[in-house]
Amino acid sequence: MNNPFQNALQQLERATKLTSFSPDFLKRIAYPDRQIRITIPVKMDDGTLNMYEGYRVQFNNARGPYKGGIRYHQDTDIEEVKALAFWMALKCAVVNIPMGGGKGGVTVNPKELSKTELEALSRGWMRGMSDVVGPQKDVPAPDVNTTPEIMSWMADEFGKITGDTSGAVITGKPIENGGSQGRGTATAQGGFYVFETLREKLGLPEVCRVVIQGFGNAGEHAADIWTKAGHKVIATSDSRGAIRNPDGLDIPALYEHKKATGSVAGFAGGETFDAHELLFQACDLLIPAALENQIQEGNANRIQAKVVLELANGPTTPEADDTLFARGIPVIPDILANAGGVTVSTFEWEQNLKDEHWSEEEVFEKLRVIMDREALEIFEKSKALSTDLRRAAFIIALERIQQAMLEK
Ligand code: NAD
Repeated sequence: MNNPFQNALQQLERATKLTSFSPDFLKRIAYPDRQIRITIPVKMDDGTLNMYEGYRVQFNNARGPYKGGIRYHQDTDIEEVKALAFWMALKCAVVNIPMGGGKGGVTVNPKELSKTELEALSRGWMRGMSDVVGPQKDVPAPDVNTTPEIMSWMADEFGKITGDTSGAVITGKPIENGGSQGRGTATAQGGFYVFETLREKLGLPEVCRVVIQGFGNAGEHAADIWTKAGHKVIATSDSRGAIRNPDGLDIPALYEHKKATGSVAGFAGGETFDAHELLFQACDLLIPAALENQIQEGNANRIQAKVVLELANGPTTPEADDTLFARGIPVIPDILANAGGVTVSTFEWEQNLKDEHWSEEEVFEKLRVIMDREALEIFEKSKALSTDLRRAAFIIALERIQQAMLEK
């Protein structure tokens, strides 16, 4: 199977066939501006020294400072980070915010580290990167397995090294340390606004049966938001198992169960089943909210959803995209569906720079306007070009990036 960056390049090639871009632009946009690798020494609690590999890929900054999260995962490598950085550049252009694309990571299983070790690793990442990040250069944020607390340690470390204590170097911080209202739920909330804008157009019923893969930041908030809006979340999963209930899961109770046991599996309000079967449950809306390459050539035929909304980055391979398109299953692509996270991150950056504090209401109103507008534009473009929503989103984003590069 392709690595995520190969998939990203394939998506690029497929989308740009439909319209004309400058050949030089197409060549440039397939390469990141910079790839940084560092080694982070961490003194473990037992006195031994461990070495970890950390990354930052700065893909494109034609539209503004590089922007994108930092992932801690045992399988994270530079190719994955490169793909995620590329998607960030497109995502920021899709929602038309003044940011470029970047991404970071560390190859580590953070669950094996104590809190002190995690703090040392996070401060070490920032020490290694402090000369390449900054409020006007590159603004990281959380991603898989990184939390507001980790962002806080990193912001503090950056302040100690550079004297810049505005906090604008990093977003996704806790509210008391300069975080924005609404950032925690922004990714799912943004996805929900897109869903609401497109629901009828995509032929979905008023009350949808929803299946969510992943019950982390993106997935668990999605479960809560869709449920509160009157839809039924009938199945969800995490890395340890899956749970289903055709009448709808009790999300607050499931959340408590996960807090107590570490997994959704074994929840008394449903039937525990094999997590590999989660994607194939019959439903109206399937929301992948875990990792890349989940819907692939080998399993796209088994999807029984009417629509897929990608809260995860890169969950559908290009081959699977074709299968789903041929089967009449629209995929609302990651670079639109999960762009609420980076949009509210950018609001946080703006508030830090201006020393302002916006209410949650204000944040979500601004977010809704952006997500509604861009969802409609992408939908109309897909109709005009008789293509899928991903190609339409790519074309709109690439046109905006090309324009910014030309202006520079
Ligand atoms: P997270 O670490 O909070 O949660 C990830 C969840 O996925 C966990 O519940 C984990 O158990 C589950 N998971 C891992 N492997 C799985 C598997 N094989 N099957 C089922 N579940 C599995 O991460 P997150 O922040 O929620 O991110 C999830 C996805 O959303 C990622 O692709 C991320 O890049 C994307 N995303 C997140 C944000 C954000 O603001 N958090 C923004 C944009 C995109």
